[in-house]
Amino acid sequence: MKKEMYAFVVPCSARPLVFDESRCVGCNRCAEVCQVDILIPNPEKGRPPVVLYPGECYYCGSCVMACRQEGAIRLQHPLMNQAKFVPVRHAADAGEEKPLPAEKRRG
Ligand code: SF4
Ligand code: SF4
Repeated sequence: MKKEMYAFVVPCSARPLVFDESRCVGCNRCAEVCQVDILIPNPEKGRPPVVLYPGECYYCGSCVMACRQEGAIRLQHPLMNQAKFVPVRHAADAGEEKPLPAEKRRG
């Protein structure tokens, strides 16, 4: 008896991987190395794998490192993780006010 199996992409706002279809050759090396198995081979040969569980990716980068086609795959971190921290410039640092020595600040 022939069994048919189906897989559906789990809806999720995260889009951890971006494939460049013009560079990807569909070799599935990225899918093979993923430790959490969120990628499955594309049913259409030569196309990038399907990201089945985008919300389960932990952005380890193994898939990107395994790819031999430059620029075929890249990680896209969640927006909140793309924030850059910049040093805060206090008025005291600008010479407008001298900061207290650490021992006096502690009271
Ligand atoms: S992204 Fe790279 S490793 Fe993954 S299927 Fe495409 S060519 Fe292969
Ligand atoms: S970044 Fe890591 S967890 Fe996410 S798809 Fe690639 S190998 Fe899998």
